[in-house]
Amino acid sequence: MGTTVIRGGLVITAADETNADILIESGRITALAARDSEVARSWAESADRVIDAAGKYVIPGGVDAHTHMELPFGGTFASDTFETGTRAAAWGGTTTIVDFAVQSVGESLRSGLDAWHAKADGQCAVDYAFHMILSDVNEDTLKEMDGLVDEGVTSFKLFMAYPGVFYSDDGQILRAMQRSAGNGGLIMMHAENGIAIDVLVEQALAAGRTDPRYHGEVRHALLEAEATHRAIQLARVAGAPLYVVHVSAMEAVAELSQARDMGLPVFGETCPQYLFLSTDNLAEPDFEGAKYVCSTPLRPEEHQAYLWRGLRTNDLQVVSTDHCPFCFKGQKELGLGDFSKIPNGLPGVENRMDLLHQAVVDGHISRRRWIEIACATPARMFGLYPRKGTIAPGADADIVIYDPGATQVMSAETHHMNVDYSAYEGRTVSGRVQTVLSRGEVVVDDRSYAGRAGHGRFIARETCQYLG
Ligand SMILES: [Zn+2]
Repeated sequence: MGTTVIRGGLVITAADETNADILIESGRITALAARDSEVARSWAESADRVIDAAGKYVIPGGVDAHTHMELPFGGTFASDTFETGTRAAAWGGTTTIVDFAVQSVGESLRSGLDAWHAKADGQCAVDYAFHMILSDVNEDTLKEMDGLVDEGVTSFKLFMAYPGVFYSDDGQILRAMQRSAGNGGLIMMHAENGIAIDVLVEQALAAGRTDPRYHGEVRHALLEAEATHRAIQLARVAGAPLYVVHVSAMEAVAELSQARDMGLPVFGETCPQYLFLSTDNLAEPDFEGAKYVCSTPLRPEEHQAYLWRGLRTNDLQVVSTDHCPFCFKGQKELGLGDFSKIPNGLPGVENRMDLLHQAVVDGHISRRRWIEIACATPARMFGLYPRKGTIAPGADADIVIYDPGATQVMSAETHHMNVDYSAYEGRTVSGRVQTVLSRGEVVVDDRSYAGRAGHGRFIARETCQYLG
């Protein structure tokens, strides 16, 4: 691999906006210099490749810290494989994903992690890492957590929802938190009171309320807030930091804000679907609402303002996708006549960078905050920084040339995710990915795909770098 120079663009990181040219050697960023300066011109003269970024943004590749490729759920599998899902990620300007390996009840963490390595190995277009889902907290699996941290799987997801599947009780959660307080792992929490939700599901179905919109009603906002509160208190008792995934309810944001005001190491993530979609979508007729069934659920539109505010005040630190696509035909349809059988999840890995750029255009966040919540903080939160998430000497050359002047219409007709619908069908957004580099290799070249399965490598992560 030779040298590449990116010239003429506006380099945006979480910290700065600079008119700078970038030198890339052997897959890494080696230097930045003032745009068109003498030194920058000398790089361009001897480079093997020069990419013209005039009039464009030059941003770090996106880091999506929450994806579920090929996840088994409700008797089916998420429809993107690691191959198709990471290709779509690249198209959308995301160059690192952190996916969730799953421990099945009764199995070891090791066998779950090995299974996810086997799914991803040799398939990925961009780099990837793993979190571990703990479905069965016991003496053996608690011990295994230490070993996983040592091999770069440094975060563990627990569920207060889904009794009988992924659910952990409060005692199990406390034990896992105590363990992570000792080994440096970060506990990620799906915070919904699943025991209470299951009662409401049963009552809704018995009363004949079977349409997708009832999925949102039974997964009550207060049951998200209650679980968020409980998770925070358990983490305090254990002396462990906590990261709450896919926050959607304003009442849950309030719990996080209160904890943050106390100076606690408590972090929150939200997702584009909670920022751009609402229960209006869940209520779409002819079962179309099933396209928007995910957990936590979409909320009434008035919640969105609280999520945006949380992102501005840093009470929420990260936007990930929770990408977990199921086709409408044949998969979402499993829940016809019973919303509780609709596979939970939405496609989005390709859309996140664009939707958040639209949020910049709309005035919700600044350009640097866009990069912070989509690239830099997820990298720091999950031990990938500064290799990922920024543009600086020494970092991997994961770089996106982004055209802020382009417009696009989001659609299943044109997206690259392996799913038969778009959650944002027909939505016009400003801005579009033009060219993408992963470790210096061009994977999207001026809107044509130039990547390959197997380019992406597993990244062993450090522990959380966002503390202290
Ligand atoms: Zn998830």
